[in-house]
Amino acid sequence: MADLLSSPILYLKGVGPQRAELLKKELGIFTFRGLLEHYPYRHIDRTEVSLIRDINPQTEYIQIIGRIISMHNLGEKNAKRLAATIQDSTGTLELIWFQGLNWVSKMLQPGKTYFVFGRIGFYQGKPQITHPEIEAIVDDSTQRRSFLEPVYPSTEKLSLKGMGGRQLGKLSLSLLNMLSEKDIAEILPPYLINEQKLMNRFQAFKSIHFPASLIEYSHALERLKFDELFIAQIRMGLIKSRRHRSSTGVVFGRVGELFNLFYSSHLPFELTGAQKRVLKELRKDMGSGSQMNRLLQGDVGSGKTIVALLSMLLAVDNGFQACLMAPTEILARQHFEAINQLLKEMPVRMDILTGSTKAKLKRSIEERAAEGNLDILIGTHSLIEDSVQFRNLGLAVIDEQHRFGVAQRAKLWGKSKIPPHVLVMTATPIPRTLAMTAYGDLDTSIMDELPPGRQPIITVHRYENKRAQVMGFLRSEIEKGRQVYIIFPLIEESETLDYENLMKGYENLKAWFPEPKFWISMVHGRQPNETKKTNMERFVKQDTQIMVSTTVIEVGVNIPNATVMVIESAEKFGLSQLHQLRGRVGRGTEKSYCILLTGSQLNKEARERLNIMCQTNDGFRIAEKDLEIRGPGDIAGTRQSGLLDFKLADIVKDKQLLDLSGQMAWKLLQEDPDLDSPSHSNLKSLLDQLSGKTVWSRIS
Ligand code: ADP
Ligand code: MG
Repeated sequence: MADLLSSPILYLKGVGPQRAELLKKELGIFTFRGLLEHYPYRHIDRTEVSLIRDINPQTEYIQIIGRIISMHNLGEKNAKRLAATIQDSTGTLELIWFQGLNWVSKMLQPGKTYFVFGRIGFYQGKPQITHPEIEAIVDDSTQRRSFLEPVYPSTEKLSLKGMGGRQLGKLSLSLLNMLSEKDIAEILPPYLINEQKLMNRFQAFKSIHFPASLIEYSHALERLKFDELFIAQIRMGLIKSRRHRSSTGVVFGRVGELFNLFYSSHLPFELTGAQKRVLKELRKDMGSGSQMNRLLQGDVGSGKTIVALLSMLLAVDNGFQACLMAPTEILARQHFEAINQLLKEMPVRMDILTGSTKAKLKRSIEERAAEGNLDILIGTHSLIEDSVQFRNLGLAVIDEQHRFGVAQRAKLWGKSKIPPHVLVMTATPIPRTLAMTAYGDLDTSIMDELPPGRQPIITVHRYENKRAQVMGFLRSEIEKGRQVYIIFPLIEESETLDYENLMKGYENLKAWFPEPKFWISMVHGRQPNETKKTNMERFVKQDTQIMVSTTVIEVGVNIPNATVMVIESAEKFGLSQLHQLRGRVGRGTEKSYCILLTGSQLNKEARERLNIMCQTNDGFRIAEKDLEIRGPGDIAGTRQSGLLDFKLADIVKDKQLLDLSGQMAWKLLQEDPDLDSPSHSNLKSLLDQLSGKTVWSRIS
């Protein structure tokens, strides 16, 4: 099938080489399809013309019809501008240009009548429009058309070449006139269109550019949003199911001695229902013969470590090695010590490899890993260095996934002939909506249950002027034998101001707790690793009662005796970071507290963040809220995937449509996993056309 929409934009009537270059550079439009999908951001109702008299300080945009009565060049050399006065039957208005003066003064002719559209501004109390959209009225009667005229995103440079926001409509119109139903084939099966009462796809493209009414526009918009979301989810579904069917993975066919021995004799507690369920899911995956790619989402404190450990034992039982990769040295060490403790009476050979491992030891670890004399290797990024090779790596667990890039994860695949199973664990719950799109190709397990006996953490927000009370409260908790964290913002470890605040905070704290019985540790990113480690250890051993720290403490650290967390300048933290930090307390059976300290000046967003923190401990709710407040663009790790670049749809605002299209996509793939049915052939060929652009098919 000749694909008209893939034609270079150069060949569209009215474009030509010069304009084609500009369209590419300024708007990234290379083909007919690019122009077709360059959607108008609004429509002007050309029947609605205001009078100059009606302009008031509340007026934002306005469309008037009037005659140019005078034009002046003003200003000097670098500050030149052009002013024109336009008049209608009720008054006059100034129009101002700072750019394109030559072109504008050639185009405008005093005495002639124009349509003028633009944003009203006030200069010295008088209304004016800077850089209005302006168009001569050729014949008054024909131009008062009753349709809505599209206005497109455009740029200064394009405007100067006659391709401004309104003028681009001429190109769209000539493109749409060339296209027929066979160029924009219907991709949805008829039953779905009927069921959902969707506009036909070809019609939708016409109507989104040139609707006959606002209602028609909204139907077109809904249809095309549906398609964007539907197509994205079909693509994800296909990647996932193809991988399930075609990727070979090592088979962990049996539950062996180590697993059983540990489970029956060394497990320090009864697993929660969620832990058991997830383990079952993992075992099924790892026994299936395909490579596992699973995302385990478990809120902070839900007990992911033990799940990772049991899965690693399963690997060892089946004659394979396993590794566990953590984002920081502190965390890797903590995992190592916790797991070492749990396995102390078991015949498992394990070790730890981090950036600070001495060269000689490192060589020996690498040798043992390569020869298969090491069962479990725990570490940091060091694990993915090329010098680290395994004899037969069967499982790679990655903790706290948001710190690792996609590419780093993919490197793990190369460590074994058959790619190891990959278990990614994240404590930053990903909102369901986002997970469906951004991580839709990973299988997901969710641990939505905390171990029994945990009391919900009590979170409060206190202003700076209540510091004395807060310190008094810390004192009383410490006197009960508890430990406390005090966290300072240090967003970038190199920010000097934050660093000074941290030091000042530390000095102040010493003043609040002057007696010799109080001991304070401090950990921050500028310390050498050795210092960090000793300071951390002193706190772990309860030699110190107060830990002053930056967010290096954010992930993973597990000290059940710590019951209070104070977060200084809490307004500077994002929601997921606050939630992570708070997760450091409430790990034992004692009642725990999180105190968010702020100054008195808070903006609306910060206030909202603090409120939600005080209202709930539920990471999933917090993640949804975070998405709502910030939008999808900022959520860690999703931007690079390029998946959320929908042109029309917004996964937050269009959540209903996202859910609906997701269900439809799922249903369709259930019935026809390879899209072989004739009623899906158009969909299939559209996907084939798009597939060259896929950058995310290798997300592990
Ligand atoms: P996270 O999911 O945040 O990584 P951890 O694995 O660090 O959580 O577990 C948090 C704490 O809960 C640890 O002290 C761990 O020993 C404990 N824990 C985990 N599972 C259970 C359980 N089923 N019952 C009781 N305590 C548990
Ligand atoms: Mg953890």
